[in-house]
Amino acid sequence: MDKWLIIGGGIHGTCSAIALLEEGVAAADIAILDPHHHLLARWQQQTQRTGMSYLRSPGVHHLHPDPLHLHRFALQRPQPAGTHHQNFMLPHYRPSLELFQAHCEALIHEYQLDQRLISARAQGLSRPSPSQFTVETSLGLLHARYLILAMGVGEQLYWPDWAKPFKKRDSPIQHLYDPNPLPTLQEERLVIVGGGLSAVQFAITASRQSSRPVMLLMRHPLRIHAFDSDPGWLGPKKLNNFQQIPDFALRRRLIDKARHRGSVPLDVAQQLWRALREKRIQLIHDQITGVTIHRNQSLQLHLDKQADPLLADRVVLATGFGRQRPGGKWLEKAVAELGLPVHTDNYPFVDACLRWTEGIFVTGPLAELELGPAARNIAGARMAAARISASPEAKDASKRTALSSPGALLPPAS
Ligand SMILES: Cc1cc2nc3c(=O)[nH]c(=O)nc-3n(C[C@H](O)[C@H](O)[C@H](O)COP(=O)(O)OP(=O)(O)OC[C@H]3O[C@@H](n4cnc5c(N)ncnc54)[C@H](O)[C@@H]3O)c2cc1C
Repeated sequence: MDKWLIIGGGIHGTCSAIALLEEGVAAADIAILDPHHHLLARWQQQTQRTGMSYLRSPGVHHLHPDPLHLHRFALQRPQPAGTHHQNFMLPHYRPSLELFQAHCEALIHEYQLDQRLISARAQGLSRPSPSQFTVETSLGLLHARYLILAMGVGEQLYWPDWAKPFKKRDSPIQHLYDPNPLPTLQEERLVIVGGGLSAVQFAITASRQSSRPVMLLMRHPLRIHAFDSDPGWLGPKKLNNFQQIPDFALRRRLIDKARHRGSVPLDVAQQLWRALREKRIQLIHDQITGVTIHRNQSLQLHLDKQADPLLADRVVLATGFGRQRPGGKWLEKAVAELGLPVHTDNYPFVDACLRWTEGIFVTGPLAELELGPAARNIAGARMAAARISASPEAKDASKRTALSSPGALLPPAS
C-alpha cells in the first residue's frame, strides 16, 4: 500500500496525521517518526517550562480539523458547574494550557496515534524509485510513498555569540528550551535574556519561586500585541495577495515584517508590570556584549550601555530559535541529491498543496513561503494539514481505503 511517513511528531506532524485520518486514509498507512516516546513531547516540555497558563492563540486553533472541536470538548468534559470561563480567557477565547493539553491527549487517544509513532530520528533520505522514498533512521530503513516533513524549529535553540562558549553540560548559562532540567532557581542571582513571550512568562514564573528579584534583560522596549501576527494572515484577506507574489525575496521580507517578534499580549504585560511594582522582577533594557567568570564562579555580564557589569549566578536564554531551515545536514544532503528547489534562504519552494516535489509535503516553517507568517503556529499547522489532506494523493489514498474495507461495495443497509 501507499504509506505516509510523517517526520516530526510535534503540533504540526500530529495535526497532519489527524487530518489524513479524517480524510479517510487508513491508519495502517500512516506512521509518525519522532525521537521521543510520545507525541508532542517538545511542545509539552516548552510550554511547561515557561509556566504559561493560557495559550496565545484562540480556541479555534487546535489539532482537529473542526474549528469548534475544542469548545465542544471543553463543554463535554466533566467539570464543576459554573467554571466554564476558566477554560478560556476572554476576549479572544484563548484556551488554558491545561484544556489544550487535555484536548491533545484526547485526540491522540481517539485516533490511536501512539500506535502510529516510531520513536526514532530521520538521518537520511533517498528515492530508490519514482514511487518510493527510503528514510534512514536510528532504527533502520523505513520506506514510504509519501513524506510529510514536520520537523519544526523546536530543536534549533538560538544561542547568541557571546553565550556560545558556555554551551556545555552543567554550565551556568542555559537555554530555556534545553531538554535537560533547569536547576532550582531559589537562591541564585538569575538573569533571563530575551524580550518575547517566553522570556517574560518565564521571568514571571521564576520570580514566584525566587527569594531574590529576577533580572529580565531585553534589548528593546516591551512590545504589546495580542497575537504574533495579524489574524488577517490566516485567511484570504492577506494570504491571497501574498500567494500571488512571484518574488520570493519579497515574500520573505513580508513574513519578517508581519511577525511581531519579541512581543507579548496585554495580560502578560500586566502581570509583568505587577511584578515590577512588587520588585519581584527588575527590568533592564540593554544587551550583553561579553561574559567573564569571576573567581567565585559568579558571572560578570558586560553590557552595551551600562558601564558596570551585571553580576549573576545563572543566565537563562529565552532567545528563541535559530532561523536556519529545519532538518539540518540529512535534509541538506537530500535537497542536493533529489534536486529539491529552494529559495536563497534555503527554504523550500512548494506548490499550493505544499508539495516540495512529487511525494514530499511540508508543514511548519518549511511551508512558510506559501502559508505566510502564521505557518509555524497552530493555525499554520491547521492550514497545512487542510491542504495536504485535500491533495489528490490523500484523496486517492482515502478512496483506496474505502474500496478495500469490508462492505465498501455493498449497498447501504436499508
Ligand atoms: C512556549 C511556546 C508557546 C507557544 N504558544 C503558541 C500558541 O499559543 N499558539 C500558537 O499558535 N503557537 C504557539 N507556539 C508556536 C508553535 O505553535 C509551537 O512552537 C509548536 O510546537 C511548533 O510545532 P512543530 O511541530 O513545528 O515543532 P516541534 O514541537 O518542535 O515538533 C517537531 C518534532 O520533530 C522532531 N524532529 C526533529 N527532527 C527530526 C528528525 N530528524 N527525525 C524525526 N523527528 C524529528 C522533534 O524532536 C520534535 O518532536 C508556541 C511555542 C512555544 C515555544
